[in-house]
Amino acid sequence: MKYQKIAVLTGAGISAESGVPVFRSEDGLWEQHRIEDVATYEGFMRDKTMVHNFYNTMRQSLKSKVPNPAHKALTKLQQGLEAKGGKLFLITQNIDDLHEKAGSHDIIHMHGELNNILCESCGARIPFSDNSSVESVCPKCGRKTMRPDIVWFGEMPYRMDEIERCLGECNLFIAVGTSGVVYPAAGFVQICKHLGKPCLEFNLEPSAVHNMFTVSYYGKAGTTLPKFVDYLLAHDDLPSSKEICK
Ligand code: NAD
Repeated sequence: MKYQKIAVLTGAGISAESGVPVFRSEDGLWEQHRIEDVATYEGFMRDKTMVHNFYNTMRQSLKSKVPNPAHKALTKLQQGLEAKGGKLFLITQNIDDLHEKAGSHDIIHMHGELNNILCESCGARIPFSDNSSVESVCPKCGRKTMRPDIVWFGEMPYRMDEIERCLGECNLFIAVGTSGVVYPAAGFVQICKHLGKPCLEFNLEPSAVHNMFTVSYYGKAGTTLPKFVDYLLAHDDLPSSKEICK
C-alpha cells in the first residue's frame, strides 16, 4: 500500500447522515440559535444558563445517535493501515462521539467534546454525560466555574502542536464534510499541499477551499467514503472521482 500514513480531518458533514445537524445553515442559525450566542465566550458571559442548556440538549440527543457508514469506513481504514504497519491520524472538528462509537481510537478532538466539561478556574477537563449549569461544581477545585468543553470562536483549538506533527508526517491528507471556512482547520489543506502531499476532499459540494485539493469526491460521505476506503486498501493509486461517485 502506497499511502501508509494518512491524516483525515472530519467536520460536521460526516455526522449529518447520523442525524446530527451541521453548523452552517443558510439562515446562519445552529439548532435555532445565533452562532454568536452559543459559540462565543461573549455569548456565554451574556447568558450562561441558556448556553449550558443548549449544550445539555445536544449532549442528551447524542445518546441516541449512531455512526453511519462514513464513520465506520474510517475505522476500517484505521484498522487496515495498522495491520500493514501504517497509521491513521484522525483529527475531528466534531464535538460528537460518533468516531468513538464506530470503534476508531486516538481521535484528536480539536474543538472539544460534548461529553466533557471544563473548569474555567483550574482547567480540569472532566468526562461528563449529565446536564451542567451555573451551579455545577468542579470535582477538582470545588469552584462553581464549569463551562461546556467546546472551543468557541476566538479560542485556541486543542492539540495544535500534535496536529502540525501529523500533517508533517502523513503522505496523504483527506478532508471529509467540512465547509473550509473555520480556521485553523480550513488551512490544513494548504499546509499539506505546500508540503507536496496529495489532498482529497469528500463533500456534498465544493468547499470554500476546494481549489487546494488534488481530487474531490462529491456526494454523501456515507456512500463515497466506504467505496474509497475499499479501493485504497486494495490498490497503490488513488481512485478517480468517476470511480467513486458513479
Ligand atoms: P459546517 O457545518 O460548516 O459544514 C459542513 C460541511 O459538510 C458542508 O461543507 C456540507 O456541504 C458538508 N456535508 C453535509 N452533509 C454531508 C454529507 N452527507 N457528506 C459529505 N459532506 C456533507 O461544518 P464544519 O466545517 O465542520 O465547521 C463547523 C464547526 O461546527 C466545527 O468546528 C464543529 O466544531 C462544529 N459542529 C460540530 C458538529 C458535530 O459534532 N457533529 C455539528 C455541528 C457543528
